[in-house]
Amino acid sequence: MTQLCHCKVVCPNCGETGVRSKYNSVNTTRKPELKMRVAKWELYTWVCPKCGKKYILSYPSLINDNGIMWVFTAHFSEELATRGYSGEIVVDNECEDPFIEAFWNQKE
Ligand SMILES: [Zn+2]
Repeated sequence: MTQLCHCKVVCPNCGETGVRSKYNSVNTTRKPELKMRVAKWELYTWVCPKCGKKYILSYPSLINDNGIMWVFTAHFSEELATRGYSGEIVVDNECEDPFIEAFWNQKE
């Protein structure tokens, strides 16, 4: 199954903080559209709501594609630069759901 939690991200450009889904494991079996989203980096992209810069979120994600498992970690590259990405944000914090709750309460 696909398991996700939430992580806090900080924009390296303007310092804005945000919350993004973090996919600890992704099961793409019988879900070709999900496979495409992995391939297109979509699951690992964060756009800063303040300055609009686009970053790739770098953390290990366990991909299970029809029983074939591997660990995928997105990294910033020249290719991503040509697609408008500004860099990568290394996500090393774990699910901080109490924090996330407080974050959303504060935003409301
Ligand atoms: Zn920003």
